[in-house]
Amino acid sequence: MTQRVNWWRWGDPAHRFEPPPDFLTCLFERLGVAPRPKAPEPAPPRLPDRTPVLDGLPHETDDAHRLAHAGGRSYLDLVRLRRGSLEHAPDAVLYPATAEEVGEILRRADCAVVPFGGGTSVVGGVAPARGSHRGVATLDLTRLSRLLEVDRESLLARVECGIMGPALESELARHGLTLGHFPQSFEYSTLGGWIATRSAGQASGRYGRIEDMVAGLRAITPAGEIVTRAVPASASGPEVRELLVGSEGTLGVIVEATLRVHPIPESRAFASYLFPSFEAGLRAIRRMAQEGPAPAIVRLSDVVETEAAMKLADADRSFGLKLLRFLGRSPGAHLMLGFEGGDGKHARVIARREGGFGVGAGPGERWDRERFRHPYLRDALLDYGLLVETLETATSWSNVPRLYTAVRGALSGLILCHVSHVYSDGASLYFTVIADAPRGEEEERWTRMKEAACDALVSNGGTISHHHGVGADHRAWLVSERGELAVKALRAMKGVLDPRGILNPGKLHS
Ligand SMILES: Cc1cc2nc3c(=O)[nH]c(=O)nc-3n(C[C@H](O)[C@H](O)[C@H](O)COP(=O)(O)OP(=O)(O)OC[C@H]3O[C@@H](n4cnc5c(N)ncnc54)[C@H](O)[C@@H]3O)c2cc1C
Repeated sequence: MTQRVNWWRWGDPAHRFEPPPDFLTCLFERLGVAPRPKAPEPAPPRLPDRTPVLDGLPHETDDAHRLAHAGGRSYLDLVRLRRGSLEHAPDAVLYPATAEEVGEILRRADCAVVPFGGGTSVVGGVAPARGSHRGVATLDLTRLSRLLEVDRESLLARVECGIMGPALESELARHGLTLGHFPQSFEYSTLGGWIATRSAGQASGRYGRIEDMVAGLRAITPAGEIVTRAVPASASGPEVRELLVGSEGTLGVIVEATLRVHPIPESRAFASYLFPSFEAGLRAIRRMAQEGPAPAIVRLSDVVETEAAMKLADADRSFGLKLLRFLGRSPGAHLMLGFEGGDGKHARVIARREGGFGVGAGPGERWDRERFRHPYLRDALLDYGLLVETLETATSWSNVPRLYTAVRGALSGLILCHVSHVYSDGASLYFTVIADAPRGEEEERWTRMKEAACDALVSNGGTISHHHGVGADHRAWLVSERGELAVKALRAMKGVLDPRGILNPGKLHS
């Protein structure tokens, strides 16, 4: 197997996103930090030798394979990779090509097994922890990548779960179909990873979250196989499919899913508005979600994020912004709407009635062209010794202002926020933190901030995660959110499906 992604930064090794010098200068000024030179590129570290415990199963043990599976893509993962602190790299990597091979591995492996899709987890979900076992192997699922069956009449597609976003969409496009699931990590994440983490894509207003798209699935557990029937709805007791969606590799390996798919929309369009404040924008998007139909993409940035995005896009030169300044108004909060298969007339009317100043389709079209480049910017900022990390949550509309204020209060540095998923009863809040992180202090600085932010989330009516999942990083807050008995019940189920406790130790509730 060849490794397609960079071992220490995001995505394609040949791709970079250098911040414009103006943007960088502004950032350093804002953080009160003297500009520093770029760090040199790290050399691949030599990994400690380990003997895998795999009972003759085919596997890879050379450094390139182990390095490519040594962690996910959180800030802490990237810092550790850059520093070469890789004592926790897996002992071996397995690449099954069929569900039967997955079953064989789960039966015979005498070590911890970490299911791995694209490895884009930002919550420590693929950290190769051994738990109480003698060793740890990562189970790379990307060879399970076929579109198996399309039922055009029912708009269902059965697909293997190691398939990456672009391959899935191009297979479906041959049938005139789309899944409509576009997380920002789309290019490097897999269907199985999306399902295992309860992921949300950027067009969730039209297509829903991944759990809305999964009609049925097939999972291989150490105790055997579970197949849930793909029916439109069922009253045959609690939904077993829902227990596997979001199980983060701790209960079984999801090898196939039957997905609800859609004809590719005939048209797409964007519109942008500037609101005098974040609160005014929130009123508008709440009405859009409650009165419907909600736009496919809704992205409302707070004032700080709006300013930062404009600086990055050099928007000072745009006509809309010049006009606004001429009228004596500040840019305020930017709302970007994306419509699929309709003109979004009702949403546009609401935006104007709630005080939005229309700035046309340009910002949305630009975002659409560049959205998968943005993760490369984080690596570039890390090169200059800055801490860049995100965290996200959701709450009811009436509680959004309280939660927003509480989380901002728990963080420090430059804090940007946007709403990117709306529901009739509430919305998600997505925070980006940029702060100074001198070499050697990165982990301590972020861990302290993150703990304060997570405490603020759970004590102010938010969920510990709207779409990134629990992984290792949010585990400590699970009981506060779910309650002890609920977590105990989930652990009991793990005992049935994975009696030796080999699957993904230290994640979620395991
Ligand atoms: C730059 C960036 C942008 C992101 N944007 C978004 C976003 O917009 N929306 C969003 O929801 N998330 C986002 N994420 C988070 C991440 O991409 C998602 O959690 C994604 O669903 C993970 O998919 P993956 O294939 O990379 O899974 P991995 O990272 O490989 O695994 C994630 C978890 O799922 C388990 N797992 C993986 N495959 C399987 C399987 N087949 N069966 C059982 N368990 C499995 C793993 O053990 C692990 O616990 C982003 C991450 C980054 C780095």
